[in-house]
Amino acid sequence: MIEQQRQAMVREQLQRRGITDTRVLAAMERVPRHRFLPADAQEKAYADRALPIAEGQTISQPYIVALMAQALLLRGDERLLEIGAGSGYAAAVLSLLAADVVAIERIPTLAAAAEERLISLGYINVRVLSGDGTAGLPGEAPFDAISVAAASPWVPRPLREQLARDGRLVIPVGGRDEQRLLRITRTPTGERLEQLSGVRFVPLLGKHAWGEHGAR
Ligand code: SAH
Repeated sequence: MIEQQRQAMVREQLQRRGITDTRVLAAMERVPRHRFLPADAQEKAYADRALPIAEGQTISQPYIVALMAQALLLRGDERLLEIGAGSGYAAAVLSLLAADVVAIERIPTLAAAAEERLISLGYINVRVLSGDGTAGLPGEAPFDAISVAAASPWVPRPLREQLARDGRLVIPVGGRDEQRLLRITRTPTGERLEQLSGVRFVPLLGKHAWGEHGAR
């Protein structure tokens, strides 16, 4: 029953909208999205929308998780950094597509819950840390891929600096209400910037984004 809902999600929400990366489709079909939601919301888990988790935050819409995963062009050997772990759902999907995932979450209770959930579901190549992800993770840089799941007024400099050669950074950039998904690729001579689709994310709050010393 749940498996059928998940297969329908992959077909109707992802393939129909143009997600073609077969590894992404397989990962989305495998990860039990309902297990990342509060008990009273699990029946809505495979709906075509973002859903509330705790602390006023959300689990992203399945299509957006797939779109970002596809945009990261993962082959399976990458070291990946996710900013905004939230429920841990996207981190679980990404852990099936990359070699090693570190996810940072600003709200400590969410970080702890996500870490515990990922362990209990058997995702062994993911860690969740609590902290301000706008600073990246300098001690573990560089990363082959960085996925930012919250909206920033600009591309935080520490994140672009922590990209490995040929590394990809996917991030929603824009105002509080609407943003554009960008892909920044580190090239031998600099950076390439591509604009993907329009999106809506909760704000990235921290030193190098919407924060005390930055934009308001
Ligand atoms: N990827 C998540 C959804 C993310 S919602 C999932 O699959 O469930 C965005 C998350 O980013 C929220 O949980 C929010 O608390 C977090 N966030 C916002 N600013 C942050 C920052 N500076 N560092 C780390 N996490 C941040």
